[in-house]
Amino acid sequence: MSSTDKELQEKMYAYLRRHHPEICRHWFDEISVAGVEGGLLRLVVNEPVRLKYLQRTCVPLFTEAAQSASGRLMTVRFVGSDVEKVDTSIKFARPVHVEDGSVEGGISETPLLLDEQVLLSPDYCFDAFVVGPGNRLAHAAALAVTSKLGRVYNPFFIHGAVGLGKTHLLQSVCQATLRNQPGARILYISCNTFMDAFHECVRIGRMSDFRLRFRNVDLLVIDDIHFLSRREQTQEEFFHTFNMLHQSGRQIVLSSDAAPSEIPDLEERLVSRFNSGLVARIDRPCYETRVSILKAKAKMHDLQLLDDVAAYVAARIDSNIRELEGALTKIRGVAMALGKTIDLDLAKEALGVNVIAIGSKNNQPSMQTILDSVAQYYDVKMTDLLGKRRHKSVVLPRQVCMWLARRHTRYSLQEIGGYLGGRDHTTVLHAVRTVTARSEMDGCLRTDVEHLEEGLKSSGFVSPTSPQ
Ligand code: ADP
Ligand code: MG
Repeated sequence: MSSTDKELQEKMYAYLRRHHPEICRHWFDEISVAGVEGGLLRLVVNEPVRLKYLQRTCVPLFTEAAQSASGRLMTVRFVGSDVEKVDTSIKFARPVHVEDGSVEGGISETPLLLDEQVLLSPDYCFDAFVVGPGNRLAHAAALAVTSKLGRVYNPFFIHGAVGLGKTHLLQSVCQATLRNQPGARILYISCNTFMDAFHECVRIGRMSDFRLRFRNVDLLVIDDIHFLSRREQTQEEFFHTFNMLHQSGRQIVLSSDAAPSEIPDLEERLVSRFNSGLVARIDRPCYETRVSILKAKAKMHDLQLLDDVAAYVAARIDSNIRELEGALTKIRGVAMALGKTIDLDLAKEALGVNVIAIGSKNNQPSMQTILDSVAQYYDVKMTDLLGKRRHKSVVLPRQVCMWLARRHTRYSLQEIGGYLGGRDHTTVLHAVRTVTARSEMDGCLRTDVEHLEEGLKSSGFVSPTSPQ
C-alpha cells in the first residue's frame, strides 16, 4: 500500500470515528487500499464474513468518508483478497441447494422463496465472546463442536434467556467452521425461515428441493428452535431432517429460549432427540463478566472506557448483555452530542434516568410488560408476536408493541427490533410511523392504544417521549 493510500485511509478512519463510530471496528486496520482508479477506491478485505458485512452495510458511509478525506468524488468498493474465499461466503449466505442442486442435476436453480437469509455478523465470533461462569460450558462445547464436527456433542443445544449470547455462539461456530474447513457445507438459519421455507415448498409442491437443501449439509445451525412449538407439521418434517443428518454424522446445532422439555407443545420424540446430545444453558453474566464484556465491546468500537465507568455500568445493569450494549451506545451518543470525552460524570448523566428505569416500575415499562399487555389485549400468542407471520391479525399488534416501546421506553429502534424477534430498525421505524398516522384517522386504533397506555401507566411510569 503506497503512502498516499495509507494517508487517505487514515483520514477516512478519522472521519468515520468522528461521524459514524457505530460502524467502526478494531479490525478495520486489517483492510488495505488497493488504489484509486477512475474514481473507484478499492479496499481489500481478507475475511469473507467481514467482507460481506462491509459490502452489505458500510459502502455509503465509507464512500462519504472517502469523499470527505480526499475532497474528490469517489466510490468505495470492498473486494476479497482471493476469489475462492469470496465464493465460500456467498455459498454460505445463500440457500445451499442452489449450488448443490446444480451438482446433483435435475433440480431447478430457482432459489427457494426466502425473504430472510440470515447473514453472519463479523462481531459474533469466538474472539469477541467473553467467557464467564454463566456461559463457560456452552462456550467450551461450542469450541469442541467446531473442531470435531459431528463427532462430539451431536446435537449441541444451547438455551437461555434473551440477550445472553446464544446467537453469538451459534454464529461463532459457523465462522470458525468456515475458517477451519472451507469446504464444509454450512447452513445457518432462523427457525422462522426454516418454517417459511417448509410451508412454501409444501405450497408449490417442491418438497424434494426442501429436502435436498436441508439434508445436504455438514453443519445445520438453527437459531430459536423454540418457535417450532405447536407447529406440528413442521416438527414432523424437522424430525426427519434431524434423523437423516444425525444418522450420517452431520453436525446439528440449535438454540432456544428454553430447555427441550420446557418448550411448549414440542413432540416428545423431538425433546428426546434434542436431549440426546449436549444441552448447555447460558445464565446471566456475573458482575466481573459484565465488566469484561463492556471493555471488550468498547475495544471493538475503538472506544476508551475507564475502569470506573465500566464498573458503574456493570453494577447497575445486570439483566442481559443487550442492555449492557445499549448503555454503552447511549454513553457514546451523549459523549458525541456534547463533544466530551467519556468519564464517570458523563456516564451518570447519560444513564441517569435510564439506569433507574431498568427493572424499575417507576420510569418506564419493561419490554416484557408491553409485550404481555399487547398479547393479552389483542389475544395473540407471544410466539406469533415475536415470530414472522404476516397475517394482519398479528401485524398490527406487533406494530403497536413497537409504537408503545418507542413512546414509553428509551430503547433505540434497533433494540426494540431486537426484542421483537430480531427485526431491523427500519421495520420498527415504519411501524411507529404507521401506527402514528393510522391512529389519527382510525378511532378504533386510537382507542386501542389509549387503553394499552392506560394499562401501562397504571404500572406507574413517567411521561412519554414523542415517537418520531
Ligand atoms: P441471544 O441470541 O441469546 O438473545 P445474542 O447472541 O444476540 O443473544 O447476544 C446479544 C448481544 O450480546 C450481542 O451483541 C452479543 O454479541 C452480546 N453478547 C452476548 N454474550 C456475550 C459474551 N459472552 N461476550 C461478548 N458479547 C456477548
Ligand atoms: Mg438470538
